[in-house]
Formats: sequence, C-alpha cells, structure tokens
Amino acid sequence: MRTALVTGAARGIGLATARLFLEDGWRVVMLDRDAPALEAAAQGLDNVLPVVADVSVGQDVARVAQECAGPEGLAALVNNAGIADFGPIEDTGFDRWRAVMEVNLDGVFRMTQALTPALKAARGGIVNIASISGLRASTLRVAYGTSKAAVIQLTRQQAVELGEYGIRANCVCPGPVRTKLAMAVHSQDIIDAYHDAIPLNRYGSEREIAEAIVFLCSERASYITGQTLAVDGGFEATGVGLP
Ligand code: NAD
Repeated sequence: MRTALVTGAARGIGLATARLFLEDGWRVVMLDRDAPALEAAAQGLDNVLPVVADVSVGQDVARVAQECAGPEGLAALVNNAGIADFGPIEDTGFDRWRAVMEVNLDGVFRMTQALTPALKAARGGIVNIASISGLRASTLRVAYGTSKAAVIQLTRQQAVELGEYGIRANCVCPGPVRTKLAMAVHSQDIIDAYHDAIPLNRYGSEREIAEAIVFLCSERASYITGQTLAVDGGFEATGVGLP
C-alpha cells in the first residue's frame, strides 16, 4: 500500500485530499498542528496515521521524518498547510510577514528536506499548494502572495534537483475555495468580485482541488514534473487582477 503524507489535513483542502487518497487505496499520514481538529477529522477513517506537528518547527518536522522512515518510503508528500494574512504593506508588521513565511514557505522547505530520504526510497511525488495569489499580485497580499510565489519557484527547484532520484515535484494553485482560511479574509466585496471575474462564476470546492493533487501524485502523472497547475475555474486565463 502506497503512503501519502498530507500537511494541514485536519480540515479544508488537506482533509479533502486525505479522503481522496484513501478512496484510491492509499495509506495517509494526516499531519496538522491543531490536535482536536485532527482527532475529529481522523475519527472513523481506516488506514490513517494522525500526526500532530507544526511544519514551521524544526523538531516537529524531524520527528515526522523519523516516523515516516522505513523501507517502503513515502510515495507522496503534499505540502498543503498554510495560513493567510491580508493587509496593506504599511500595516504588515515584520512579525506578521515572518509568521506567514515560516509556515507557507519555510514549512515547505523543511518538510521536503526532511522527507527527501523517504521520498527517494519510494521514488515518490511532491505536490506543493501555492495559490493564484502566487501568480498574480494584488493589494493586501504582500506576505501571502510573496510566500506563494516563492513556493512556485521552490517547486521548480525540487523538480530539477530531485528528478534524478525519480522524484517528481509539481505545484497546484487553487482559486478561491470556501474554507476557514479563505472566509476569514474574503469580504463580501471580494466574494462578489471573484464570482464576476472567474469564467465558471463560482468558488471551487475542496474536492475539486484534491482531484488535481491526487492525480499529480499518481502514476498517471508519471512524466509531469516542475509544473504549476492553476485549479481556478479559468481565472488565471482571464489575465485580470485578483479582487
Ligand atoms: P484551512 O485553514 O481550512 O486548513 C489549513 C489547515 O492547515 C488547518 O487544519 C490548519 O490547522 C493547518 N495548519 C496551518 N498551519 C500549520 C502548521 N504550521 N503546521 C501544521 N498544520 C498547519 O485552509 P485551506 O483553505 O484548506 O488551505 C490549504 C492550502 O490551500 C493553504 O496552503 C492555502 O494557502 C491554500 N489555498 C487556499 C485557497 C482557498 O481559497 N481556500 C486558495 C488558494 C490557496
């Protein structure tokens, strides 16, 4: 049985991804820093290993790597855990900037570095979750958008450097999805503007993002690496700015 590790798996896109891997016959390590939410999410699911850890904490990441070490290795790593912080440049204090970078960017680097031996053992795939905010600049997203743009480039670095070990790395850029993260920062004005700007005229679902993630981790994507896939109802194709 192939093993996938999904970070930020207690809710939202990460939980939908964990469920889809299970449907497809994978075993899933569900990682999240929110212990009660993780316990609730994993309840009743077979073939899951819930792991409470913070991707921005080096000791946590080292412990996770030890738990995943084994001859069978790790067939998929989904770096999904992320936080959002919207605000004007002048109001974004350095502590807020760093907090976003520590989770959204440093967390992806830490997890990938620590799990590379396990990925090598299984010739596994990496999918990093960025955002359309990493493809388009807009107001209020100085920290979030910059962290996600860096994740897109980090994915390319991973693909180029780890390809010789049979490890593929791709990036998924979701458009807006009604998760806790998004609804904390999307005002009604932003919601309305997204509906108008997106060719499919709606937000995406967690499941629609998960479908792309699980596909990219699967054997069906065996010759796809270093790519950035916007799963956004056509928003990126419009060329217009983010609301
Ligand atoms: P969410 O807030 O619903 O879920 C995120 C999960 O990650 C939570 O369970 C949270 O506890 C966990 N998490 C946060 N920081 C963590 C850390 N340091 N260590 C371990 N776990 C941590 O968010 P979501 O909308 O499902 O977002 C998932 C990913 O998708 C994020 O990277 C986000 O930036 C990206 N994304 C979301 C949207 C959207 O509209 N929802 C759009 C584009 C990109």
